[in-house]
Amino acid sequence: MSDTSDLGRFILAQETNGSYATARSEIRDGEKRSHWIWYVFPQIVGLGFSGVSHTYAIADLDEARAYLAHPVLGQRLREITSLANQHFAKGARSIFSNDDVKFHSCVTLFSLAAPEDSVFRQTLNLFFNGDFDQRTEAILAAQSGDRAEPRTGPAQRYDQSSRPFGPYVRGPGTPTNEGPAHVSDSSIERARRLVEEATTVVVLTGAGVSTASGIPDYRGPEGVWTKDPSAERLSSINDFLGSTEVRVAAWQREVRQQEVAAQPNSAHRALVTFERTGKLCAIVTQNIDGLHLAAGSNPELVYEVHGSSRTTRCLNCGEEAPTSEVLARVAAGDIDPHCEALIGGSVCGGLLKTAVVSFGQSLPVDVFGHAELLVKTCDLLICVGSSLGVRPVSGLVDKALARNRRLVIVNGEPTPYDSEADVVVRAAIPTVLAEVLGVTSENPDVVL
Ligand SMILES: [Zn+2]
Repeated sequence: MSDTSDLGRFILAQETNGSYATARSEIRDGEKRSHWIWYVFPQIVGLGFSGVSHTYAIADLDEARAYLAHPVLGQRLREITSLANQHFAKGARSIFSNDDVKFHSCVTLFSLAAPEDSVFRQTLNLFFNGDFDQRTEAILAAQSGDRAEPRTGPAQRYDQSSRPFGPYVRGPGTPTNEGPAHVSDSSIERARRLVEEATTVVVLTGAGVSTASGIPDYRGPEGVWTKDPSAERLSSINDFLGSTEVRVAAWQREVRQQEVAAQPNSAHRALVTFERTGKLCAIVTQNIDGLHLAAGSNPELVYEVHGSSRTTRCLNCGEEAPTSEVLARVAAGDIDPHCEALIGGSVCGGLLKTAVVSFGQSLPVDVFGHAELLVKTCDLLICVGSSLGVRPVSGLVDKALARNRRLVIVNGEPTPYDSEADVVVRAAIPTVLAEVLGVTSENPDVVL
């Protein structure tokens, strides 16, 4: 094991002139502007030629592990790497300029040193198509070959032939479909094994997750539109724009839904608990009820691709307000509320509508684009409570399958993707989701 006191050189460099604080602030803003790369994103020895690069080179996987175990350095590296991950849509070159290669080397090194640390794995998936930096890989492979007796034992030895991760390949011989003989072969247990094996998980949620909270679904057997097809008009943008009657009915429906005062259920809470594993990259939800956020899910992980009924937006000036404020006006007799914002001294007067994507409106490009990228790069996609019958959201499943991602479907009814899923769990969602995720609602601690 490397002498951990050597790591003091990084602490010294990071504290000098507040270098780490500067680096953190630059990456949080999505653009590296000053020079600190070598001692904030350290790399394996042998990649650089300058004195600085030698001083801050990491000798081997042991020293990388010591770096991660260091109470300050490890925490800072994970922190700044997750900050960079939030800007993945910009690409590494935009964030790091010419230092994008060093960033790649760094996350490759620490991914290999700690395969269980999902933040580095996520970086590789988000920025580098899941690939390692080849030079870092080659140096580590050579170091591994040099050792007659690996000091850290064979399990930790770097071995190119057993890459600790990388895109899964589905097909015959995929071990998780068979599973060890001592494990019962119930669908819940098979699904849970896939969760255990995955490093990065995206969960797609649909109406079935919220029905136990008293929110009706739309297309299920008891769905609003199944029982009353005319109600679908309330969710058409053209009808909303063109008919006072539809707008009045739509606002009355909002009033009724607010009266239900839906609360998150155990499925929402299971996802909050699952966040603590660090595996959850995103909750992509078709639901507009805001219950994932109400349950306490990290807003940065929640992609409301159909919008949210908790916010109302003016279709003319774009001003947003909490829907509860507009509903207070409706309750007071303003049954077709219009925007009261002042624009250049006069009242806007535009139509107000909840920030929900209606039929005829496009999904928000930025939200959907991010969700799509995360689905493409995760190990495992779990679809919960969705009939998977609505495009373009169902197309996310196609994207995952096209990239050989694992697929688990948890739904009360059959879906068009059941035959392509690794596991289909047909059961009541609120009770079963915690089991699939390996978290229990009685004990909020993660049991993975
Ligand atoms: Zn307005």
